[in-house]
Amino acid sequence: MVADIPTLLMMITIASVVMAGSMVTVAGGGHRDGMGLWGVGLCLNALAYVLLVLRGLIPDAVSILLGNALASATLSCLHAAVLRFQHRPLRWHLLLAPPAVLTCVLALNLQDFGARILWANAVMALQMGAVVGVLFERRRAAGSRGALMVMAGLGLGFVVLLARAAWGAAGMPTGQGLLQPGGIAGLSFMLLFVVLLVASFGFVFMSKDRADEVNRRLAALDELTGVANRRSIIAALDRDVGRAIRTREPLAVMMVDIDFFKHVNDTHGHLAGDRVLRNVADVIRSRIRAQDIVGRYGGEEFLVVLVDTSAQGARRLAEQLREAVQAASCHWGAHRLAVTVSIGVFGGRMEPGDSWDQLIHAADSALYRAKQGGRNRVELAPALERPTRAGLAAQGPETFPSTH
Ligand code: GH3
Ligand code: MG
Ligand code: MG
Repeated sequence: MVADIPTLLMMITIASVVMAGSMVTVAGGGHRDGMGLWGVGLCLNALAYVLLVLRGLIPDAVSILLGNALASATLSCLHAAVLRFQHRPLRWHLLLAPPAVLTCVLALNLQDFGARILWANAVMALQMGAVVGVLFERRRAAGSRGALMVMAGLGLGFVVLLARAAWGAAGMPTGQGLLQPGGIAGLSFMLLFVVLLVASFGFVFMSKDRADEVNRRLAALDELTGVANRRSIIAALDRDVGRAIRTREPLAVMMVDIDFFKHVNDTHGHLAGDRVLRNVADVIRSRIRAQDIVGRYGGEEFLVVLVDTSAQGARRLAEQLREAVQAASCHWGAHRLAVTVSIGVFGGRMEPGDSWDQLIHAADSALYRAKQGGRNRVELAPALERPTRAGLAAQGPETFPSTH
């Protein structure tokens, strides 16, 4: 198959314009880190290829110098887009050095086709390699399919451009130009078209993966207090019960309920109530360990899951928490709101068959006793009520195999 190079170049131009338009439109909302820069890069790419197609129709100096400067500036923009995506500073004087240097070198070698091919491709190969480098450096943070696609696309580009540079270094057969059909030029433009598509779609996926991650995190958090929401704290408790059954480590939970909270709402309004909720959440968050997790279980109730913690350890922590909430000052206008909490605590070892709702029920019962006992108190729940071996045996011998 003989590739018609001008057609290929036009395809690259059109693809660049269409993708640039989509990216700049999507980036218009301002929430797509680097997408606008990538779009600008694609616009420059389209212009560079237009100048290449016009080779022979416009002065060589314009086609060659401006065309290559724009192609190199395209890669500077893609590099900048990736840095912006990673929230790193953009040092434009460094980013724009390659197109500037390349323009000077090409101006000095305008009549030497082989040297031009060598320099242009070597500089742009290094630029592509640099973008792959910054993505590779942060691969754990980026870690997405999109970043892999960009690295794969630009990695292929790096190889293609190096091959073209070697082609230039090997010395060009006289009379062979960039736009002659077939051969290495046709194949390399075809591959560069693939590079453009794979890298650009990869960058779109990077943005999408980040948005998905942010949404996942937001969906797990309580909007008002920033702690885990009910769904994710229950999921965490369920997971930790399973782990505690396997490891035989004790597990504890606390149900923390603000005392007379309705009174705060009724006296000072719901915004004051919201302030109190945030304050209590902050106090709890600042007191628990990194491996523990707090979530908003209901309106003014927080559930705290304490891994590898005994009942007595949890009770001590609950007492400290209760005192800390009482001591923390919560102001609303000129008023200092007196805030206290009651806490129901359960702690113990888990047995196969235990489930998260039993723990919540136990902590809830203890909380009820703390409220009955006058509030601003901690109460410890007794051990879970489980069916006894005798009880199981009474249900029928086949359900309880002999251990002898
Ligand atoms: P107790 O000491 O027995 O716990 O009394 P309480 O007033 O704290 O308990 P009650 O269950 O009677 O009232 C809870 C109140 O919490 C009722 C509800 O309007 C309020 N509430 C629930 N969610 C929010 C919220 O997100 N913001 C605000 N400001 N109030 C809320
Ligand atoms: Mg309550
Ligand atoms: Mg309450």
